[in-house]
Formats: sequence, C-alpha cells, structure tokens
Amino acid sequence: MRLTKGTDIALRIAMRLAVLREQHPTTREVAAAVDVPYTHAAKVVSRLQHLGVVTARRGNGGGLSLTQAGLTGSLGQLVRDLEGVGDPVGCEDDPPCPLRAACRLRGALRGAQEAFYASLDPLSIQDLVAPPTGPVLLALSPRPTG
Ligand code: SF4
Repeated sequence: MRLTKGTDIALRIAMRLAVLREQHPTTREVAAAVDVPYTHAAKVVSRLQHLGVVTARRGNGGGLSLTQAGLTGSLGQLVRDLEGVGDPVGCEDDPPCPLRAACRLRGALRGAQEAFYASLDPLSIQDLVAPPTGPVLLALSPRPTG
C-alpha cells in the first residue's frame, strides 16, 4: 500500500521533532532538515497541530514541538487520521466504477487496508526514532530553503 506524500512528510516531521525535544525548531528549519518544500511542510504542520500531534509557539524562543500524545500515540491511528477513511481505490470517483454495488474486490481491499493500519497500531513515533534512525535524524542539518 502506498501512502500519500503528505503522510510521509508528516511522519518525517514528527520524527525530526521527536529527537529535538527541547529545541523547538521553526517549520522552515524542520522542512530543510527533512528535505521537503517549505509550503508542503507548512500545510502538514497545520494538519499535525489540528490532530494534537504538534504544538507551535510564536515569538522569541517559540517554534514547533511534538506533544506527548504525538510521541507515544498509536502510529496506526496517526496514519489513519492523515490518510483519511475510504476505499484504497477510486470506487466512487467520477465516473464511479460500475461494479461498486457488489464488488468482492472492494471488500478485500478494505480488509487489506485495515490490516495494514493494524500492523502499525502497536508502534509510536517514539519507537521509530530508536537507533539507528534517531542518530541519523539528529545528524540532519537544516539548510536554508526558499
Ligand atoms: S472493481 Fe471494485 S474495487 Fe475496483 S474500483 Fe470497482 S468497485 Fe472499487
């Protein structure tokens, strides 16, 4: 199963923030460190704030931080929240698929999708930044981006 680019960016940002617990970087700094365009990162940070995963403080000494829920919450639930619910393929697209009312494949794909999310449920962002990933995340140096 392939996740959206936005979900991947969100998880990269969450992991970077997880290893910078006391540093509160700006969105621009995090975007540069994980090598994503600032505009994409800004949208994703806003979504993460809405989900209670990230907090942002303005002003001197302000910046982004990962919440405790963001650090230890279920990775599977976070990915569900970021991806949204729905069919993994476009059964209800315009035009809709003519098989959609009685499609065994649709049910099978929904089951496979839920099994994918369920496999991520026992994990958290905290688990993802254990070595060897955490030291690599810490070593990323923010480069200025436009
Ligand atoms: S064939 Fe089934 S799973 Fe595929 S788009 Fe149509 S309804 Fe959905």
